[in-house]
Parts: sequence; structure tokens; C-alpha cells
Amino acid sequence: MPEPQDLDFDLEALRAKYRAERDRRIRPDGSGQYRHLAGEFGAYDEDPYADREFTREPLLDRVEAVVVGGGFGGLLAGARLRQAGVQEIRVIEKGGDFGGTWYWNRYPGIHCDIESYIYLPLLEELGYVPEWKYAPGEEIREHARAIARHFGLYDQSCFQTQVTELRWDDEQSEWEVATDRGDRVRARYVVVSTGTLSQAKLPGIPGIETFRGHTFHTSRWDYAYTGGDATGGLTGLTDKRVALIGTGATAIQVVPHLGADAARVYVFQRTPSSVDVRGNRPTDPEWAKSLRPGWQRRRRENFLKVVTGVRQDEDLVNDAWTSSARLQEKLIPTNAYADVPTEERELAYEIADFQKMNELRTRVETVVEDPETAEKLKPWYRYMCKRPTFSDTYLQTFNRPGVTLVDTADTHGVECITENAVVVGGTEYEVDCIVFATGFDVGRSGVLSGKLPVYGRGGAGLLETWMTEGLKTLHGFTARGFPNLFLLGSMQNAASVNYVHILDEQATHVAEVVAEARKREARYVEPTAEAQDAWVTTIRQKAADLYKFQAECTPGYYNNEGSPRERSESYGDGPVAFHELLRRWRSEGGMREVLAESEG
Ligand code: NDP
Repeated sequence: MPEPQDLDFDLEALRAKYRAERDRRIRPDGSGQYRHLAGEFGAYDEDPYADREFTREPLLDRVEAVVVGGGFGGLLAGARLRQAGVQEIRVIEKGGDFGGTWYWNRYPGIHCDIESYIYLPLLEELGYVPEWKYAPGEEIREHARAIARHFGLYDQSCFQTQVTELRWDDEQSEWEVATDRGDRVRARYVVVSTGTLSQAKLPGIPGIETFRGHTFHTSRWDYAYTGGDATGGLTGLTDKRVALIGTGATAIQVVPHLGADAARVYVFQRTPSSVDVRGNRPTDPEWAKSLRPGWQRRRRENFLKVVTGVRQDEDLVNDAWTSSARLQEKLIPTNAYADVPTEERELAYEIADFQKMNELRTRVETVVEDPETAEKLKPWYRYMCKRPTFSDTYLQTFNRPGVTLVDTADTHGVECITENAVVVGGTEYEVDCIVFATGFDVGRSGVLSGKLPVYGRGGAGLLETWMTEGLKTLHGFTARGFPNLFLLGSMQNAASVNYVHILDEQATHVAEVVAEARKREARYVEPTAEAQDAWVTTIRQKAADLYKFQAECTPGYYNNEGSPRERSESYGDGPVAFHELLRRWRSEGGMREVLAESEG
């Protein structure tokens, strides 16, 4: 490791610059600054793709398993339960089809920035190899639908339907699932997979409701107004002045298309994203032919190990995620480098971080021709303070004559919106259309948000129980008092940037538990109090202390807008160790801790 005095930059000066950039962005209202898509803003949440006139009779029947949510988590739960022998599976989904994130987000330029060969699940089961290293949204959405067809999940599923309550019936030992279409479905097992970034949010900009032009959120792209499709060709914008608010991972993909097609584009930036090289390329058919059974599992495992610091002889994915692996430790902690003394390790991380960010700042200077614009586009924070992004066209778009970057850091975001303009620093930018690329409410869906009430044994509320007793689960999936209920997600377990891989491990685990319960004719799957307490203790003992790192970051949804939570609820040894723990648990008698009473 280089000594601080041998570095070609001034460590202290950079630290001070980062602090200053953070301080000028912190807002006292924190996460209270946003508007939720309800009430007068409810129209932003409507489904532009589904039939608004759709009606059907309420379902009053019984299935073996209900899965709440038809994104990749729900699809994987359905697929793995099907493989485990469960016949009657009903996925209940708010959207008009399967796909989750990829159903809602269809903005121009949409791609997944995690390599397609490891991101798209069940490729070998479906005999499919994606067409590009980084897949476009449409291909991913089609793959989601193909999974549903392959595993027969369309037969009993229902769409445009929201689950409004889950209630355990002690007498019948089954769940009653209520929905906003009047359904009362009974199910032995319920799996909840409602996603984390599924509820779009708007900025609380004064005057936002007074704008007379056209507006929409990127997760409900209005092609009727813009023309074109996810590949571009936004012919409806050729005579329009467009404001794009936000410069996160979504905006990075949208801006090149707005720049290509709109008459005038103003990009309103509060914090610049780090923008690394993309390097997308079509799949080599010879490579695809050379793949041997088990290839996807090996590739996914290899990626997970590389990005979490587990020594590997080769890096199969070999991209900007894997080359920056060490820096990701600050988002997803692992036990890598645990043998290095803390102070030494932290300094090494910090130096590697500065070097990476210097490289990305140099990239901005090299690509962007106007020095003033380039200066504004430079990210001054540590790599994992904000989600890294990748593009070979975003920065270049600011060299186009009709594209202007408006920096809003000093005013903590856009100052106000009038009937016909977006205002920053007293300047009115007159526009015809405002596109909000302002992200999602983290944790505003599912059980933790209170939007999905769950009542278990004796009518006890799951959220209420957690509010009074603290979050208590076994592995994050099951909770005492809530039999045969499985929660997919990222609490009290371990995540990764390739989140679909994580969901697959979770769905596989849940399906294996259910298969064992069916085999043993167990009455319930429910953790013992001892097993649950022991897991909570493990989570506490292993929790990584990310507080200091996050408190020093520029505000954003990664650090609760500058007020990070003091305690982490994730498994501190990381996802590789967690998956190994689950496998061992299953093969070494763990089922004892969750299977109660044979039916006999
Ligand atoms: P983000 O939350 O990342 O970005 C929201 C943007 O809106 C930020 O730039 C934010 O600025 C800005 N903003 C918020 N309020 C204001 C305001 N009042 N004035 C001006 N600007 C404002 O949302 P995204 O939709 O970009 O991304 C969300 C997540 O979705 C990503 O982090 C990623 O996890 C996922 N994603 C994944 C992709 C993939 O390829 N896998 C692609 C796209 C998204 P500030 O940063 O200062 O808060």
C-alpha cells in the first residue's frame, strides 16, 4: 500500500473538499423533502401500460401458495416452488404483467448495468443466452414473461391487483389474502416479494403542482407525448424544450436520448453521479455455443465472490463492477480482509477510493469540452456514497449545442417551479415538459411501509410486533407468530449489487423449506423462539459499522439523505458466507428450527 506522502494527490485536501461538498448539500428536512405519489400526485403512479377499464369477478378460492409481487423475486419464488412440487401457485401483482421494475421502467435507453449473463435468472432452465453483455429493458421484461410461461405461472396469477391484507386463520391453519378487487384467497403458504425501489417519488419543489406543461416520472414514461420507444426516436420532442430533474442511474441512461431528439434540454443536477466506462457489446455466438451446463451458476458465483473480496483465480465478468470490488465493501460489508488491522484497512480503502474517483473525474475532463460544465459534472465523494453508473454516451451529450447542465447544489435542488418554467438561482428556464428522474421511496412498499398489513397468530400485527419488540426474523425470511409466511428482501440477511442472484438464493431456500415441510407433512413452518433470538443476536454481533462512512457522504437514499441509521440490519460476513450458512443449515438439521407438528 502506498504511504500518504507517496501519493500524487493531497489526502487532506481531498478529505476537506468531500466534507465541503457534503455540507453544501445537506438539507434539514432530510427524507421529508419528497412527495409521495398519492392524493393530488396519484396520477403520476397510474399504469400507462394496462387496460384501465379492466374488471373481473372477485376470486374466492384456495391455492397452495400465494406470491405477492410479480417481479424477479416473485417469479423466482414461483419457479422454485414449482420445481419443489407445489402445483397451485397464484402470483398477485399490481402491474398488468410480470416484470416488476422492468414492467414499470421503460424509459428510453433503459438497460441493466449488471451483466446480463449473471443478472437474468434461470437462463439455463430456459435455454436462453441474452443478446448483449448489458441487456436492454425490453429483453429483460420479455425474459420475465418467458419465465412465467415456462413455469406455468400465468394460469392462476392475477394482475392489476393489490394485496391489501394477509390474515392468518388459526383454526384452518391457512392465510386469507385480501385484495383491492375484493378477492378472498386462501393459501397454505404466502411469499412476499414486493421490492425495495418500487414506489416512485417526486421532489417537494415549491410550485410543482402549478406547472401547466406536460410532466411525468421516468418509471411511467409517456411515449404518447414523446413518441419513440425504449430504443429512442423521441420524435414528439423535436420542437419541445425539456427539463430533466435528477442525475441518478436512470437519468444517465435517459439523457443521451433527450439530447439526441429534443429541441432543447436542461438537465437539473444536484449531485453528479460517477460515470464509468460501459463497453456494451453483442454476445459472441461462438462464446454462447461454448457454454457448458452449470455455466450461469459458476459465473454468478464467481461475480459474487469477486465483488465481495473472496479470492478467485479468474474474473469471468471482468467489468467496472469487478474492478472496483474493494470499494463496494462500503455498501455491502463482508469479512474480506478481516485479518488486516482496522486502521490500515480503512486507509487502504480510502486511498483506493480517491484513486478511483480521481480517474473518474479525469474522465469527465477528457470527455466534456466546456471546462465549466466539466467542473460541475465531477463527483466529489467516495465511490459508494452514491450508486455508481456506467455510460459511454452520457457525458458526451453535454457537448451537444442544445443541452445545458444546470447545477442546483447551492440551492439544495431546484428552487421552484412556475406555470411554465423551472427556476434555479433566480434564472427561469422555460420548458414545455418536465421529466422527473427523481427516484424511488426506499422501503415504501411491503410490510415495513405499513401498506401491506399482516396479521398472524391471535391477530398480532407483524409491523406492530416489530415496532414494539424490534425486528426479529430467522434469516430475514420467517418470523415467529406468522406461520408459513416467507419474506424475500434485504433485512437481516445479505445483499449484493447483483440483486436478482440474491433473490434466487432466497427463493431456492424458501422452496427447499416448503418441500421439506410437504415431505414431512409438517403443519407449520415457523421459527422457534430460540432460533429467531439466536439469529437476531448473530445479526447484531456481525453488524458492520458503516455509520461513519455514511455520515460523511453526500446525502442520498443510500444514507437516508444524510442521516444514516445507526445500526445495520444486514449479515456482516456478506452474501457468500450467508449463502453457505443457509446451505449448511438445510443439510445439517436446520429444518428442526422451523418445522412444527406433523399433521398425522
Ligand atoms: P436516484 O434516487 O438515484 O436519483 C434521483 C435523482 O434526483 C438524484 O440525482 C437526486 O439528486 C435528484 N433530485 C431529487 N430531488 C431533487 C431536487 N429537489 N432537485 C434536483 N434534483 C433532485 O433515482 P434513479 O431512478 O436514478 O435510480 C434509482 C435506483 O434504481 C438506482 O440507484 C439503482 O439502484 C436503480 N437503477 C438501476 C439501473 C440498472 O441498470 N441496474 C438503472 C437505473 C436505476 P441527489 O443525488 O442530490 O439526491
